[in-house]
Amino acid sequence: FLKGRTAVVTGSNSGIGLGVAHELARAGADLVLNSFTDDPADHDLAKQLADEHGVQVRYIQADMSKPDQCRSLIEKAGSCDILVNNAGIQHVAPIDEFPPEKWDAIIAINMSSAFHTTAVALPLMRKAGWGRVVNIASAHGLTASPYKSAYVAAKHGIVGLTKVTALETAGQGITANAICPGYVLTPIVEKQIPDQMKTHNMSREDVIAKVMLQRQPSGDFATVEQMGGTAVFLCSPAADQITGTTISVDGGWTAL
Ligand code: NAD
Repeated sequence: FLKGRTAVVTGSNSGIGLGVAHELARAGADLVLNSFTDDPADHDLAKQLADEHGVQVRYIQADMSKPDQCRSLIEKAGSCDILVNNAGIQHVAPIDEFPPEKWDAIIAINMSSAFHTTAVALPLMRKAGWGRVVNIASAHGLTASPYKSAYVAAKHGIVGLTKVTALETAGQGITANAICPGYVLTPIVEKQIPDQMKTHNMSREDVIAKVMLQRQPSGDFATVEQMGGTAVFLCSPAADQITGTTISVDGGWTAL
């Protein structure tokens, strides 16, 4: 049902972004994949998705920490019916030891990039009379954890931006929502495990069970396919009146 629609997914050469791209393509959407790298592997990935799903897939390099590159990503895409703001990074440290440059990078990539891409995408969506903005926030867009000041601030910020986007597009065939994943075992999470082992003086298994999934009552990681399925649902007619809200896919994290 997404045949003829173009989806731009930021940060989509890995993890959740790639999972979302796969599910949107499976539903028929053409894709623009993105990351800050420009490796042969990135272009191979685009070809692989095109072959697998029979849709058009382009890879456009753009660094989501740079406002002009966020904007030019959408300009180069040319059309953008579905915008998935997914690019994100993490850094874990107490506030008084948190490197200011890490704070700036997380705010830029995890939050401000969505403002810049959305600003350029909305006129294209209005022209098409249809559009979907799907922001990948986090359970940390609704709750907090120690040592993740920049990430929690950015994710709360993108939830706020989602609401404003919904209000400014209401009644125009455009919706804006945020998906709030709990823990999904992707590279961003894998990279946190050694830091958490050090901080908590625990084994890998104990960090996963007692620190990460301790907040996730289901006791299981969520999957990238589940994030993709939720994004596809938000693009379906059943979701036409769902706008300005968050959908938690977190195994019960935010119910605790
Ligand atoms: P990941 O590290 O696998 O993917 C992050 C993606 O962002 C990669 O494709 C990377 O290339 C891209 N990226 C990083 N910096 C970029 C930049 N400057 N410009 C362009 N692209 C850039 O991690 P993930 O788990 O797939 O995370 C994706 C999103 O989901 C993030 O916003 C993250 O905060 C969010 N999220 C993840 C989890 C989880 O448990 N994995 C939970 C909640 C929210």
